[in-house]
Amino acid sequence: MALKTVRSVAELRAAVAAWRRAGESVGLVPTMGALHRGHISLVEAARTHCRRSIATIFVNPKQFGPREDFARYPRQEEQDRTLLDAVGCDLLFAPPLSEMYAEGFATTVSLVGVTDRWEGEARPGHFAGVATVVTKLLLQAMADKAFFGEKDYQQLQSVKRMVRDLDIPVEIVGCPTVRDADGLALSSRNAYLSETERKVAPALYRAITGVAAAAREGHDLDATIEAATAALLKAGFAAVDYLALVDAATLAPLATLDRPGRVLAAAKLGAVRLIDNVAAIPR
Ligand code: AMP
Repeated sequence: MALKTVRSVAELRAAVAAWRRAGESVGLVPTMGALHRGHISLVEAARTHCRRSIATIFVNPKQFGPREDFARYPRQEEQDRTLLDAVGCDLLFAPPLSEMYAEGFATTVSLVGVTDRWEGEARPGHFAGVATVVTKLLLQAMADKAFFGEKDYQQLQSVKRMVRDLDIPVEIVGCPTVRDADGLALSSRNAYLSETERKVAPALYRAITGVAAAAREGHDLDATIEAATAALLKAGFAAVDYLALVDAATLAPLATLDRPGRVLAAAKLGAVRLIDNVAAIPR
């Protein structure tokens, strides 16, 4: 296996320093593991943009709420290592909890504005957990570029905002969402879906693409969203947390598609919470 695994920040920094001395560029792909083709597409993007690629696997407790799935989040490092090796990733950084949050850890990075609504509202503390760990990973690796999926669109926009605000010297590259043939966005949490739920799940993608198309046609937005929500519930979703047309940059709600937009949704299917989003492009 050409893939090297390190577990300490010191080893990570030594590997990056050696590449820097050789004049090689470095791309970083932060993940929580249980890797699928979506994650692998980020590593491929890193390999296209940069000479060296680093993937990180860290299930970050700070971004899970007290009633969320931290304890049962899938952990399968051996399988992940095989996938990373096959795609030509150079280095895996998989630190233990104590390496990331030493005794007495006291710092939080948090944003306002871009994180106020949607996932931020549904999952209090989530984005502070994400911003804190991403800041650490970016400063630990000091890569030239870091790659994030559009699948987590609010996260991507928040990380871009934070990197600008804090002058973190890295370019954030957003990568398109990888989907199954029926439209369902790949997610580590899809593993929680029962066979029946898996068949219902693509209705979420149909709902958001439908809203994006209707917004572009200038149809009544409230009525469109109401109908799409009803269709999700009828298909078998238990609840729709939000389904909204927003400004693609600020994530503020949009009444009409008069600028680049995004349709964001989160909905519960049984015990599983799915999120997805698509671009809404004005005529
Ligand atoms: P996670 O392991 O869920 O924290 O995700 C790690 C990175 O992979 C994040 O930047 C996600 O946005 C990205 N990602 C997750 N699922 C997909 C997908 N289906 N397509 C593209 N990127 C994804």
